Amino acid sequence: MAPDGHRRRLITAPHLLDVATGAWLDDHRILVAGDRIEAVLRPGEPAPADARPLALRGDWIVPGLIDCHSHQIGEMEYAGIPAIDASPAQEAMSGVRNARDTLRAGFTTVRDVGTFWAFVDVALRDAIDAGWTPGPRMQCAGAYITCPGGGGEVTGEAPTMGLPDGLRFGVVRDADEVRARVRSLVAGGADVIKCIVTGAVLTRGTDPGQVELPEALVRAAVEEAAAHGRFVAAHAHGTEGIKAAIRAGVRSIEHGSLIDDEGIAMLLDTGTYWVADVYDGDWIAEEGRRSGWPAETMAKNDATTQAQRDGFSKAVAAGVRLAFGTDSGVYPHRMVAIQLGYQVRLGQTPAEAIRSATMTAAECLGWEDRVGSVAAGRFADLVAVEVDPLSEIDVLRRPASVMKGGELVVLGDLGDVSG
Ligand SMILES: [Zn+2]
Repeated sequence: MAPDGHRRRLITAPHLLDVATGAWLDDHRILVAGDRIEAVLRPGEPAPADARPLALRGDWIVPGLIDCHSHQIGEMEYAGIPAIDASPAQEAMSGVRNARDTLRAGFTTVRDVGTFWAFVDVALRDAIDAGWTPGPRMQCAGAYITCPGGGGEVTGEAPTMGLPDGLRFGVVRDADEVRARVRSLVAGGADVIKCIVTGAVLTRGTDPGQVELPEALVRAAVEEAAAHGRFVAAHAHGTEGIKAAIRAGVRSIEHGSLIDDEGIAMLLDTGTYWVADVYDGDWIAEEGRRSGWPAETMAKNDATTQAQRDGFSKAVAAGVRLAFGTDSGVYPHRMVAIQLGYQVRLGQTPAEAIRSATMTAAECLGWEDRVGSVAAGRFADLVAVEVDPLSEIDVLRRPASVMKGGELVVLGDLGDVSG
């Protein structure tokens, strides 16, 4: 149901987090008109008489959370090993479930950084925006820009078996092809461009340390994307790939697993965001062992997990712009908030971890005018929990209330979110 643009509600906020300062504002009220916040009222400030009061379950309120590195499309157990036995329709239906779980977990906005079947993400985004199915606000990549046989390619099919075009939409060989693909992606509805700059942990036969998309091609993507008002998110594990992508002007480094001190200094100098998925290595280690994933995948995971965490701790100390992103889809979407606690254990304060998943994430997306804080003009996206998340960050894994665009989300049972 579309929210009524004129209906006003007054949400009591016993404790409202100011994400910019990390301070709690006590006994404020949030005036919501339709899907937006009209005002945040201090104690004693008068409220309009027509605003209907609403108390959320959970006294500790933070802005709706944002995941800058999500994969809403596809079945989790394939874990990035492309499902050539699933049709785009099947992939879309799993996206419906994933989007619902993501929203119930308190994530009201995601940047979806890739689907193997082109544009299934865009269809999901549009269905959510139309109110057909519950899910987060989405920025979509449409497909992966990747070199032939690269980390964003579907691999493993028999050599003589061709793949349908829909599975190879973003495969490029030179700068002209990059520019043409970026234009096609934008025309198809992409909000962001995702470049696979190095090999990947989960894509077989690719090396995370190896540069696959040369700097000149990444630069071509950045320039063409900018001409259409879009940012580039760069998948880069290896030290050289990270630096090439930063030099090429990408908005964010995804993974960044093997970053060195020079790479951290370059992130600082340029203001490039780092989106580090510091939890999911544990999931891959456990699930991969349980399910017998290839030894190659497990070895690559071992080579990147701790290195990435060490780099993350250094980046926290250095003051790098860290935008929360999880690679959710590799692990179940209902567990997405588990990474907040990891970030705290790696050196962030709880307030910094929450800021990374709200204000900083919104800036990374270029959406700071609409999400990431509780302020006039922003969407009324809220998460309420039952204890102070600054003293117990993991309480955010079990939201008591979630509101997206002024509408309360039906939470259901998230089940086991412990990982
Ligand atoms: Zn990913």
